[in-house]
Amino acid sequence: MTEPMRIILLGAPGSGKGTQARRMARELKIAHIATGDILRRAVEAEGELGRRAKAIMTQGDLVPDAVMVGLMAERLVQRDAARGFVLDGFPRTVEQAAALEKLLGGMGASVDHVFQLNVPEEELIKRSVGRRVCGKCGRNYHLISAAPRDPGRCDECGGELRARDDDGEDTVRKRLEVYQASSRPLAEYYAARGVLRKIDGTPTPEVVYQAIAGWLRGTGRR
Ligand code: AMP
Repeated sequence: MTEPMRIILLGAPGSGKGTQARRMARELKIAHIATGDILRRAVEAEGELGRRAKAIMTQGDLVPDAVMVGLMAERLVQRDAARGFVLDGFPRTVEQAAALEKLLGGMGASVDHVFQLNVPEEELIKRSVGRRVCGKCGRNYHLISAAPRDPGRCDECGGELRARDDDGEDTVRKRLEVYQASSRPLAEYYAARGVLRKIDGTPTPEVVYQAIAGWLRGTGRR
């Protein structure tokens, strides 16, 4: 078996993390761990975690670090993560990054690549406000730039497409503010460890993926 690949995707809401992470997971046969998806499922299940997270998420704030780190500690020891993983939406603070480093260190592992997807703010707002997500398989669409063949239905699984509760313009602006506050320290954290790769997230998903794939093959630009 080849060495497991452990990847982190950083980027603002709407920067394409979910789309890229899904493809990476499929092509590299590694686990896609999206903390936002885990939390949305918890909200739907109406358990203790869901009740705590719901209001925070609808306001565009961050769920407390201790909750997120606990969640990640449980997720990373699941079997599929042993083959490697791509983290989508975690870490979001330096505290989370440090806790992740400790968790992985305890498993004799570390992060191989951190990709930061950069997209200008106005484009991020357009992308998030027009986003529709399949309730069944999680695939993302956009009302204008990546519309489904059948309005309201997922091309892949036929599931129902919905807007996210936190994709209204005001909440998106708040989420962007929250992201801006933590993105620089997080990028610095990983740059200091020599694993940060900055990627232009504005082109098509295919072009963005090829830029990432170049790094994964070891031919990326330094
Ligand atoms: P996402 O789907 O990644 O945009 O996440 C949706 C929401 O879930 C965020 O706006 C936060 O409220 C919450 N969330 C997801 N991941 C994290 C995290 N690592 N730390 C704190 N809150 C998170």
